[in-house]
Amino acid sequence: MTKKVLKFGGTSVGTIERIQHVASIVKKEHLAGNNVVVIVSAMAGKTNELIKLSKEISDKFSKRELDVLLSSGEQVTSALLAGALIKLNIKAKSLLNWQIPILTEGEHSNARITNMNVEKINEHLNEKEVVIIPGFQGITKSADITTIGRGGSDATAVAVAKLLNADTCDIYTDVDGVYSTDPNKIPVAKKIDKISYDEMLELSSLGAKVIQSSAVQTAMMYDIPLEVKSTFTERKGTKIFNQENIDYTKSVTGVAYSKDDAKITLIGVEDRPGVAANIFEPLSKAQINVDMVIQNISSDQKTTDVTFTVKRDDVDKTKEILKEKSEIKYKDIIHNDKVAKVSIVGAGMVSTPGVTYKMFRGLSDEKINILAISTSEIKLSVIIDENNTLNAVKKLHTIFDLD
Ligand code: ADP
Ligand code: ASP
Ligand code: MG
Repeated sequence: MTKKVLKFGGTSVGTIERIQHVASIVKKEHLAGNNVVVIVSAMAGKTNELIKLSKEISDKFSKRELDVLLSSGEQVTSALLAGALIKLNIKAKSLLNWQIPILTEGEHSNARITNMNVEKINEHLNEKEVVIIPGFQGITKSADITTIGRGGSDATAVAVAKLLNADTCDIYTDVDGVYSTDPNKIPVAKKIDKISYDEMLELSSLGAKVIQSSAVQTAMMYDIPLEVKSTFTERKGTKIFNQENIDYTKSVTGVAYSKDDAKITLIGVEDRPGVAANIFEPLSKAQINVDMVIQNISSDQKTTDVTFTVKRDDVDKTKEILKEKSEIKYKDIIHNDKVAKVSIVGAGMVSTPGVTYKMFRGLSDEKINILAISTSEIKLSVIIDENNTLNAVKKLHTIFDLD
């Protein structure tokens, strides 16, 4: 018998009518003879609403209590979907994390799923019941509720699929697959039929929120094929799997962007060995992730400027740390958080010369200034002024034949 994990995102369960529609999809899969485990998100907007409530209490709201609060959104939809299935005469049961349990490790709001009592779920499946599990959460060994990062229901689905040894893991969402770029922003975006784990991981890490990056990472690690498909149409979705089976006809597969970064420049830094290490060591100790780094040529052989990017949320903390460290000497520190990171991703880039040049020329034709650059084997990212984001995405989409 086929074991299927189906995950439904926030928009898919955003209203009672939509939950009833999701129930009809689940019913069909169940009546086709499959063992079905469903992972649900909170209703669209619910998690943000709960965060807002916590901020009304305090902007330093306890992280433990925030997880208790946020996990409630998914628990509501689990029960509503179970109820909708029961109304359709399907045996269904919601199982909360502590009832299974699903175990997590790591800090509040950013934990990861490490294990789950598979037996408990199998018991219900053997009783021909549909099992519904709230996504985005788990409990620690000491029974505290933890959430696993925004968009984390995707990661729950993949972890459950892995631990249950499921045959398929379908990510149902509000678009009918992974596109060459966000189809809601760039309507000429094209659907990708199949994509490798590596490319999907880059795209989602660089801003394509259609599937959460840590979910892709787990799927890649354990070779769990995924399919992203629509809750609202029956069109074929996008398959995400091992790249050996894919032909690359294009150098670039997709364009992603995010507005999560900020650029920091230290002006007039001493130009001698050990300075860069002095700057970045305390940042790493404070768990601040530095993405791109540029060091300008020193014109007087004594001082130089160092520019780097961090997450926007980390700007204040970064500046504070650098100001505190007396061994780091510089004239001034400035930051710019009105920037965007625009990236092209494609496994075909490895074998195509001239991609870098083509990207830079395209941006310069649009009079877009590049503030920082970073590359890997299958991606090229630039930092630009935030106002130019959609222009840049459109241009790159066109010049790399993706329209
Ligand atoms: P869910 O609530 O189902 O988890 P999300 O809102 O997290 O859905 O992700 C789906 C959204 O991702 C789409 O509505 C779309 O706007 C956005 N998106 C961004 N980049 C892409 C892309 N490359 N392909 C498809 N969708 C994308
Ligand atoms: N509800 C959570 C969020 O909005 C998790 C999810 O939807 O995947 O981030
Ligand atoms: Mg999502």
